[in-house]
Amino acid sequence: MAGQEQHRHGHRRRVVLFPLPFQGHLIPMLQLAALLRARGLEVTVLHANLNFPDPARHPDLAFVPIHETLPDEVTSPGNDIVRQLLALNAACEAPFREGLASLLRGQDVACAVVDGQCYAALVAASQLGVPALALRTDSAATFRSMLAYPRLRDAGFVPIKEERLDELVPKLEPLRVRDLIRVDGSDTDALCSFITTVADAIRASASGVVINTFEAIEAAELAKIQHELSRPAFAVGPLHLLAQAPVEQSLYVLDRGCLDWLDAHPPRSVLYVSLGSVACVDRNVFEEMACGLASSGVPFLWVVRPGSVRGVGEEVPLPPLPDGVNEEVRNRGKIVKWAPQREVLAHNAIGAFWTHCGWNSTLESVCEGVPMLAQPCFADQMVNARYVTHEWGVGLEVGEVIERERVAKAVTKLMVGEDGAQMRERAQHLQMQASAATSLSMDSLVQYISSL
Ligand code: UDP
Repeated sequence: MAGQEQHRHGHRRRVVLFPLPFQGHLIPMLQLAALLRARGLEVTVLHANLNFPDPARHPDLAFVPIHETLPDEVTSPGNDIVRQLLALNAACEAPFREGLASLLRGQDVACAVVDGQCYAALVAASQLGVPALALRTDSAATFRSMLAYPRLRDAGFVPIKEERLDELVPKLEPLRVRDLIRVDGSDTDALCSFITTVADAIRASASGVVINTFEAIEAAELAKIQHELSRPAFAVGPLHLLAQAPVEQSLYVLDRGCLDWLDAHPPRSVLYVSLGSVACVDRNVFEEMACGLASSGVPFLWVVRPGSVRGVGEEVPLPPLPDGVNEEVRNRGKIVKWAPQREVLAHNAIGAFWTHCGWNSTLESVCEGVPMLAQPCFADQMVNARYVTHEWGVGLEVGEVIERERVAKAVTKLMVGEDGAQMRERAQHLQMQASAATSLSMDSLVQYISSL
């Protein structure tokens, strides 16, 4: 199907995309855009002003800003993520509706693909009579857990209660209550209501879902989603592999020097550490991480994003390191603000990835056969960590409390221990399955869009 043109009345049909403007959501949506474009569909990306993509990097796509007005609670760093999502949805609803309505006046729009967290846009598109698909940039398991929220709420599993943390969640095994989506510090009722609103909007307004995952790792979850929603679910991932997307797509400036640094290291000797584009840690957690890394004796490449240590301003180049650690870092470690992560994970010097288990990072690690040390921080990261450690057996948890001795032990176990070797073997098996993932599901999606 690649390259085949999707015509109706002599025109190429157009798909309108609406990403959520955060790194982990924007990038998969742009990868999807590239894949749809390569299959002959015209693509317009309606986008928020926040973190807007650079059109010059995507000459095949049309970009139309919606010019939303965002309240401070969305734009100020470190704000409550649930409030951010609620405020973003509220602020984008009317401008998105206007933007889409104006595209409809001149174009043959087949459908809209809206980020799955943008419930307001999903509903608006369907109210305008445009078939709307939801792009889930998280895993099928996470999406299933969101769909189950009304049931979980009625059964008293959510909002999460301390005394039930270790209970398995019926019909969502292997998830325990502690693995369900949570955002520490956020209002639990607000989180519950956000997830329920998302699930309701998808049930009421989405004609299908598009998920950045692949059959070999989530076949059972995908089948259950199809069954529960009685509408198509397209597992089009791993998007970054299938789109062969350029690694340069990033909202931050990449430090490519770390690749030269990796070149100087033997195969599988370096631990890569990154907690993604949103997670922040307390100062004492940062210090325990630093001390644990220092005493593990393992070389490490560590991404410390400016502003990612609470209480240390973005203008500070690097939070002060605890006494004695500076020297270890100079000798054995390298700290950067932002790394070309996919190239780093593909580098043969990398032995393991200490990750927050964001879904993109998890998929990227799986696709390179790199075992993981899981430190989930919030949201779907708990679900992903559970799958990494218990379902796929390609990683271990660093522990709920980040403490230097535990860190050093976990790092050593993964990098040089027997358990780590087995996890690496299983990760390499998943890598083979990921590279065998085909674009059949993407072809079905394009066929489906063309039939609308
Ligand atoms: N990333 C990167 N360089 C870094 C850290 C992260 O390019 O130094 C990319 C990473 O490859 C992934 C994305 O940022 O594609 C993070 O997405 P993820 O879903 O893992 O986590 P989030 O940032 O949404 O929490």
